[in-house]
Amino acid sequence: MAEERLVVCSRCGEDKPGLAAPPLSGAIGKQVFEEVCQDCWDAWFEQSVNVINHYELTPALPEHRRQLYEIMKEYLNL
Ligand SMILES: [Zn+2]
Repeated sequence: MAEERLVVCSRCGEDKPGLAAPPLSGAIGKQVFEEVCQDCWDAWFEQSVNVINHYELTPALPEHRRQLYEIMKEYLNL
């Protein structure tokens, strides 16, 4: 049986399987990796499309990426 890494998820509050690898680079990716479950990350990933459209963000721009990460942290309760 594959080893399942459980995290105590900061968003849903449950012990659930974490991500296979940090989804983002740097400290924020590490934090998501350690504190967010796969399901909640998937939910954010879907939501992020709406956020990007709503705020007309270009994630390639550092300033926009910072804004997106702030919204993400709020969404994931980080
Ligand atoms: Zn969760």
